[in-house]
Amino acid sequence: MRTAPNFARLAARGVRALTPYVPGKPAEELEREYGVRHALKLASNENPLGPSPLAIEAARAVLAEVALYPDGSGFRLRRALADQLNVEAGQITLGNGSNDLLVLLAEAFLTPRTEAVFSQFGFLVYGLAVAATGARARMAPGLPAGHAQPYGHDLDAMRAMVGPRTRLVYVANPNNPTGTWLEADALQSFIASLPPRVIVVLDEAYCEYVEEPGYPKALSWLAVYPNLVVTRTFSKIHGLAGLRVGYAISHPRVAELLNRVRQPFNVNALGQAAALASLADADHMARSRTINRHGLRQLRDGFVANGLRSSPSVANFVLVDCGRAAAGVYEHMLRAGVIVRPVANYGLPRHLRFTVGLSDQNTRALDALRAALVATEGDT
Ligand SMILES: *Cc1c(COP(=O)(O)O)cnc(C)c1O
Repeated sequence: MRTAPNFARLAARGVRALTPYVPGKPAEELEREYGVRHALKLASNENPLGPSPLAIEAARAVLAEVALYPDGSGFRLRRALADQLNVEAGQITLGNGSNDLLVLLAEAFLTPRTEAVFSQFGFLVYGLAVAATGARARMAPGLPAGHAQPYGHDLDAMRAMVGPRTRLVYVANPNNPTGTWLEADALQSFIASLPPRVIVVLDEAYCEYVEEPGYPKALSWLAVYPNLVVTRTFSKIHGLAGLRVGYAISHPRVAELLNRVRQPFNVNALGQAAALASLADADHMARSRTINRHGLRQLRDGFVANGLRSSPSVANFVLVDCGRAAAGVYEHMLRAGVIVRPVANYGLPRHLRFTVGLSDQNTRALDALRAALVATEGDT
């Protein structure tokens, strides 16, 4: 074979600087590598109830037709979303997960001569999406550990990063991995303070879980701020992470630009059918929300019982300070067959993120945590 060239040097500059996103460890991988059985994964904020039975049924019905391309316009799903959200179908762009939309927005608006702003401790995908375009990433420092929203978005610090080259600002509400959130007044003032040429990408992947009264109804702002783009997903409360369906709600002309850069068939047929059916299952959503509310309390009480501090969270996960390097705790939990999420890659090497599970799953995770804390006593 001929000598392989230095591919990394041939790659686009933005790509050279990238490190791949590290997802939560799949249960099957743990079982294979550690020889444990019945692994429990509470690491990727998946719905422990699974999808709506209606969604499964709808996807199954479409299986027989997968020789055909999906509807590239996503007509039925977009119309159902528009009806439910009280917007126009032309304001909705579907994505292969909302991750797809976060990337499409970067592709549509960023070049190596422009900048994008996001928060330290913000969802990692923002940095990846920006870097791939070669644009300059401006990371605003997050709120301090002692703040009521530990490591949350500091909107003033983010605003200060916005300059003449800024095209995009990514805001997660609530944020992953911190669980922190932004109140309506503060967030609206922030958006109002930005020039209309700066697109605000408001990532609401977990909004359906939030029961906090001050949480914004951001879709109602779309009529006022044409530069606002809200992204949502079927991966979290809808329990359809494996089918990869997300959507953006925006000004129709932003949707039209996203439509130019997206792949013609970016959302598969099973995903479209399942998402459409899931939208009609309000009971499943309500059940998921209730289970999450109880589970959040159970986990947080369990952390307190172990003498640990956790952040407040309005999502389906919670960030806990292990009071020592988290790597050892994580490793001991893995050996007990429980997968949670290390967040050292976010600059939080002493924290772990727990996804809220069913009651018995939370109990198992807390038991594994307790044993791991004993085993790592004295670690710094
Ligand atoms: C999980 C998540 C997403 C999107 O996930 P998709 O499966 O691609 O829809 C987006 N933003 C945040 C903050 C998330 O945690």
